Amino acid sequence: MIFLDYNATAPLRLEALEAVGEAVRCCGNPASQHGAGRAARRRVEAAHDAVRDLVGAPDGRVVLTASGTEADNLALDGIARRRREQAGTTTVVISAIEHPAIQAAADRLTRTGFEIRRVSVGRDGRLDLAALEKAVDADVALVSVMLANNETGVLQPVADVARHARQHGVPVHTDAVQAAGKIRVSMDELGVDALSLSAHKLGGPRGIGALVLRPGMQLEPLWHGGGQQDGLRSGTPAVPLAAGLAAAARAARRDLDQTATLASMRDELENGIYALPDAVPLGAAAARLPNTALVAFRNVQSNLLVDRLSDAGVMVSGGAACHADRVEASPVLLAMGVAAELAIGAVRLSLGSGTTPSDVARAVEKVRAAVEAVRFGI
Ligand code: PLP
Repeated sequence: MIFLDYNATAPLRLEALEAVGEAVRCCGNPASQHGAGRAARRRVEAAHDAVRDLVGAPDGRVVLTASGTEADNLALDGIARRRREQAGTTTVVISAIEHPAIQAAADRLTRTGFEIRRVSVGRDGRLDLAALEKAVDADVALVSVMLANNETGVLQPVADVARHARQHGVPVHTDAVQAAGKIRVSMDELGVDALSLSAHKLGGPRGIGALVLRPGMQLEPLWHGGGQQDGLRSGTPAVPLAAGLAAAARAARRDLDQTATLASMRDELENGIYALPDAVPLGAAAARLPNTALVAFRNVQSNLLVDRLSDAGVMVSGGAACHADRVEASPVLLAMGVAAELAIGAVRLSLGSGTTPSDVARAVEKVRAAVEAVRFGI
């Protein structure tokens, strides 16, 4: 199998597997006073340290969640509601290309009286900074802009967003679920107040994520209960998954040294694929994650291409959602001004620590054959 779908989920790293296996055999609730409790607490604290280190937030406060989705919801909902209480602000600004975890959390806020401003992106997939600056003023409760887009890999100007928001005293959250572990991230340098990540995107176990908060950043919790994690997320933390997250975060940080190798394999892949008939690169004009390639083929429906490639042993993602009777183009691509007929032919190939040059060469050949097989109307 050639696995080129790291942005969907990365294979579990060996270090993470071992850490989960070891921790799962140990008993002890991190809230307990006895030795077993203290041992569990140390595992959780080690996860906090590894996360802080990975995202360049030496003083950050780490809240462990069940997923990147939960971290995003906690940030958006929790910060917006607290700000409304404290400052009476009821507007939230997000970009038009946020992951559904943010989009849907924002939609939910509208049902409780918030107004959502969605800021557009340019054809290159980058946030329109001038539009953002217009949208953010002192009446805004929170701004949330992702660090790297999951479909295109395009990096967003989060540091500029934070600089502008700070002038108006508005906190900024960034969804770094795709960026963390793929590029160097420094929360301090970005100047953001909250950042989400997810373990399974960096080779950790599925089922655990984290929200990292700047010291002093306040939010309303989503869950209420025993007051764990300083009351920010009640519920006994998943200690074995936290151990896996710690191991994966340390390994991902170490592997940042290999970013250039990854980028050169991605470029090699793109060179091969862009040369295929009717291939259209998407998002390639802006600074991007080193592992992501997005390409659309004219007269191709991506769900058919993904299935064909899967049958040929190559795992990729389609850029379109398939419903019973129709195929819908990706909202991210539509927001970038890509025509719907082209957007439905988009596939994303995302590489990672296990990808080899031979995977890349074989994948190009398999894509060539699969596109020929599924192309319609010519
Ligand atoms: N945010 C982004 C940018 C993502 O790509 C994803 C997952 O694809 C998420 C959030 C959600 O993360 P999780 O799968 O851990 O819920």
